[in-house]
Amino acid sequence: MSDTLIAVENLDKVYGARWALRGVSFRVAPGEIVALVGPNGAGKTTLLRLLATLTRPSAGAIHIGRIPTNSHAAAARRAIGFVGHQTFLYDNLTARENLEFYARLYGLVDARARVRAVAQEVGIENRLEDVTGTLSRGLQQRVTLARVILHQPAVLLLDEPYTGLDQLAANRLDAILRNAKEEGRAVFFSTHDLERGLTVCDRALILNKGRLTHDLPRAAWSNRAGFMEIYARVLNN
Ligand code: ATP
Repeated sequence: MSDTLIAVENLDKVYGARWALRGVSFRVAPGEIVALVGPNGAGKTTLLRLLATLTRPSAGAIHIGRIPTNSHAAAARRAIGFVGHQTFLYDNLTARENLEFYARLYGLVDARARVRAVAQEVGIENRLEDVTGTLSRGLQQRVTLARVILHQPAVLLLDEPYTGLDQLAANRLDAILRNAKEEGRAVFFSTHDLERGLTVCDRALILNKGRLTHDLPRAAWSNRAGFMEIYARVLNN
């Protein structure tokens, strides 16, 4: 396996006259959980959408493993599980039908058994026969999480994955992320929930006004207060 699962080099994203991202570079290794934090409008969603190949950079390059996303987006996408603001679920299908549809799309051999396993992991085994559109927001978020772990992608990209989850579901998500880490996958997620984010991550990146201002391994913030001090300075900047 490659020693880098996500490589971002000199990434720029410009919308009209607005720089959403400017000169962003970082790498994520297998088995690393990296949290992306920053104030509203910092560029977090833009960065995650670029990594997920949903939009193209204005300049710079992204590699998922050894795959350059600029030229090989479809191949990169097979190695990615992405949780964004949209669920990418079909409202009029049941949760099971949605998950089995995606399992077939990914060419999984025992789709039924795999759907059962991921449903248990996210805690929706009792709601599989519900029509997805009738599920609460948090339950839909759980189905979305189940969808992205179905094919066990090497890279998990999650944009504010804790939003809408209750305490129990958030704990389950932590377990999924830690499990992914143990299996040597790379996890990259954005959050405004610093308490949870900092507990689960190995490293935190701070993004502000489109620039990566800090890349902090856990050891660099000796305690939570140390991190908050750094973060407060960024917010006041
Ligand atoms: P939040 O914490 O509020 O979700 P964020 O860090 O995810 O914010 P982004 O959504 O990435 O921030 O937005 C970064 C900047 O890029 C913002 O100024 C935003 O208005 C701008 N932007 C994002 N998408 C577009 C777009 N499609 N067209 C024009 N500007 C955009």
